[in-house]
Amino acid sequence: AKWVYSFGGGTSDGGAEMRNLLGGKGANLAEMASIGLPVPPGFTITTEVCTEVTQKGGHPGDLAGQVKAALAQVEQALGMSFGDTANPLLVSVRSGARVSMPGMMDTVLNLGLNDETVEGLARRSGDPRFAYDSYRRFIQMFGDVVLGVEHHHFEEILELAKEDLDKSLDTELTAEEWRQVIGQYKAKVEEETGAPFPQDPEAQLWAAIDAVFKSWTNQRAVSYRRLYNIPEEWGTAVNVQAMVFGNMGDDCATGVAFTRDPSTGENQFYGEYLVNAQGEDVVAGIRTPQNITIAGKQKNQSDLPAMEETMPEIFRQLVEVRETLEQHYRDMQDIEFTVQSGTLYMLQTRNGKRTAKAALKIACDMVEEGLIDEAEAVSRVEPGSLDQLLHPTLDPKAQRKVIARGLPASPGAASGMVVFDADEAERQRDAGNKVLLCRVETSPEDIHGMHAAQGILTTRGGMTSHAAVVARGMGRPCVSGAGELRIDYKSGVMRVRDVEVRAGDLLTIDGGTGEIMLGEVPTIQPELSGDFAKLMGWADKHRRLKVRTNAETPADCRTAVKFGCEGIGLCRTEHMFFDAGRIVAVREMILAEDEAGRRKALDKILPMQRDDFVEIFQIMRGLPVTIRLLDPPLHEFLPHGEEEMAEVAEAAGASVDKLRARLLRLSETNPMLGHRGCRLGITYPEIYEMQARAIFEAACKVQKETGETVEPEVMIPLVAMPRELEILKELVDRTAKEAMAAAGVEVAYLVGTMIELPRAALLAGKIAEAAEFFSFGTNDLTQTTYGLSRDDAGNFLPAYEARGIVKQDPFISLDQEGVGELVGIAAERGRKTRPGLKLGICGEHGGDPASIRFCESVGLDYVSCSPFRVPIARLAAAQAAL
Ligand code: PEP
Ligand code: MG
Repeated sequence: AKWVYSFGGGTSDGGAEMRNLLGGKGANLAEMASIGLPVPPGFTITTEVCTEVTQKGGHPGDLAGQVKAALAQVEQALGMSFGDTANPLLVSVRSGARVSMPGMMDTVLNLGLNDETVEGLARRSGDPRFAYDSYRRFIQMFGDVVLGVEHHHFEEILELAKEDLDKSLDTELTAEEWRQVIGQYKAKVEEETGAPFPQDPEAQLWAAIDAVFKSWTNQRAVSYRRLYNIPEEWGTAVNVQAMVFGNMGDDCATGVAFTRDPSTGENQFYGEYLVNAQGEDVVAGIRTPQNITIAGKQKNQSDLPAMEETMPEIFRQLVEVRETLEQHYRDMQDIEFTVQSGTLYMLQTRNGKRTAKAALKIACDMVEEGLIDEAEAVSRVEPGSLDQLLHPTLDPKAQRKVIARGLPASPGAASGMVVFDADEAERQRDAGNKVLLCRVETSPEDIHGMHAAQGILTTRGGMTSHAAVVARGMGRPCVSGAGELRIDYKSGVMRVRDVEVRAGDLLTIDGGTGEIMLGEVPTIQPELSGDFAKLMGWADKHRRLKVRTNAETPADCRTAVKFGCEGIGLCRTEHMFFDAGRIVAVREMILAEDEAGRRKALDKILPMQRDDFVEIFQIMRGLPVTIRLLDPPLHEFLPHGEEEMAEVAEAAGASVDKLRARLLRLSETNPMLGHRGCRLGITYPEIYEMQARAIFEAACKVQKETGETVEPEVMIPLVAMPRELEILKELVDRTAKEAMAAAGVEVAYLVGTMIELPRAALLAGKIAEAAEFFSFGTNDLTQTTYGLSRDDAGNFLPAYEARGIVKQDPFISLDQEGVGELVGIAAERGRKTRPGLKLGICGEHGGDPASIRFCESVGLDYVSCSPFRVPIARLAAAQAAL
């Protein structure tokens, strides 16, 4: 087998398309060499060898021979030899996986130096100081990475040496002084490892290669892979490459650059470099780097001259390289280079990481420049990243007084006066104040306060805590789990170190970074026109799936329309029941002893519901609106405490004792599997009847007044048995007929069901006889398929994720092999009964790009998601279709 691929000296065994085998770095080095860019020669040992080494514990038999041959090729290209005392070849040994894992794995530079070759390097370069400096760097890196002698040992020796010599900068040490330091380094290595520092270059090379392979399984790399879902089997490649030196004098340099600005996306070369330095000096941030272009220098208000001024010829070559790379890769590149004695060498190129804003601009600009087409542009922007663009963000020019940091749970920036209580948040909002709700954690009881707030801050809980999930759903910025902060509800203060924040003080959070700042930091509004609109337009051209929204408040509906939704996929009517004006009537209805009592209360609710629907139909102008009849267990609406009981008793004209008896009978131990969904409609048909009446009276009214058609789709939740749907469809049809007859208007409507129980999915063929559409309620379907409560999963799912038992939280990204199979079965059986049956999804998964890809693959008609995810879903749907 071929384990080793050579590059440089005019030829390459590999190329960019071989990323899986050669890793990103190796594949791109080969590619650059083959398009004629100046790449120091070297070779890549494949990721397959990593797999052999980690699984079988040894090298494949013929690896040694192939490495030897590849090394000989490098020696020949450069006219130097490895281990030679007169003209020694030195190499770097670096990791390089399929995807970049910044800083996770190890690198060794200047390999091949020993007590003798260092003299050769000193003579040949004419610079003994440089040679010894290189050797001590090598001992330090090799010692740390390969021999396990911790970095700080070397740091301490160097610090002491500088103190003794009364010198503050590394660059002030002379050759002789470095030689002293080297002696101490070697002694330290021997002391720590029990063996002298290895002098045989070949032994050094193999030890470094093995160390890099081993670094694939170090703790850092393992955690990183878990975080980013990178499979262990991928392995890393090892790149061995001839060293070039950016630290041999003032005609040497090393730097990094982006072919376009990675933060704004502007088509401007952007980079930094250091004169007389080695690569790690740039990253280490000890010296202040200089800008490459004059424009960059001006932008950063730097006093140091730009490369464009100090090394104009190198700069010209670099600009040419930039041009070549962009034309070749047709994407923004992130490059590393070194200048050795006036000659430019390219050490790396890869697609550059960028902000969402830059991704958008670069994709649009490249279409304009003819580098890519529209479909390619659509595929270039990560749908999830659009989140960054949809919320107001902090003005980058503004001052920030950061007092603490939490998790960036829901993007966007928010300022407001601190309140510690949901009711207070609502009161202050009603009084015209902007508030920031600060809680230890939140619960469903705080929803109204979260809605009233500009943003939410919690001191406990992770990225999937109640606060985080709800805030993302509402599009409210949220910082969660800011553990440094201590909230004392009693005295109404929040403390961090010596800072005290009181209720009423102004505070700002940045939900994109997790920062918490004193005072009000000015924000800027998102830009939804321009490039954003352009890319969305292209996405719309390429997608098949429609995108609807889950919304019930007029404000959310308007937001979703602004973001381009094509209807409502789920209007949860119970959210309207909680409104301050009507919760008492709702409780009265629930606690009524008999139908007459319920009807009395329902009569009070009817006009309010009708008005809600009128407003929604008006906002949605001719778009389909799926309204779900009451779903949650009545249990959830029950009054708490004496005060609320008394309120309901008065409204109902009943005694508190009687109510209390009824309340006891209504309490359930497992309400999510209890008296809810269509079971309510079957047992209390007057509730669904009232809701259906409200819907159709509203539809008739709006259709009459605006002349535009209204498309209500009435949805029955939690159906498990075909008969349930038949009974309730009959009720809805009858009510619709009555309302339309009374108004003298015909409204075209559908009656359908949610598929959110496994039995419903399996019996979909039968259910489709009555259902005119299905909407997959994948929240409940996930819950019931796993037998896993969504409210309690947080207690142990993180442990499951950490151990790799589940790859991802199934409530966030659809479990395609289990829950997905049920969706597939239901879609197929439903459409067999009723060809063309309209199919959608309205669980949280409707806004998750991976789940959307799945929805495309099973041929659903639409996805429905929270308003702020609508643009994400539009883009993800287009990518799924491409
Ligand atoms: C669902 O179950 O997926 C759904 C959308 O309904 P809810 O989350 O309101 O139960
Ligand atoms: Mg549900």
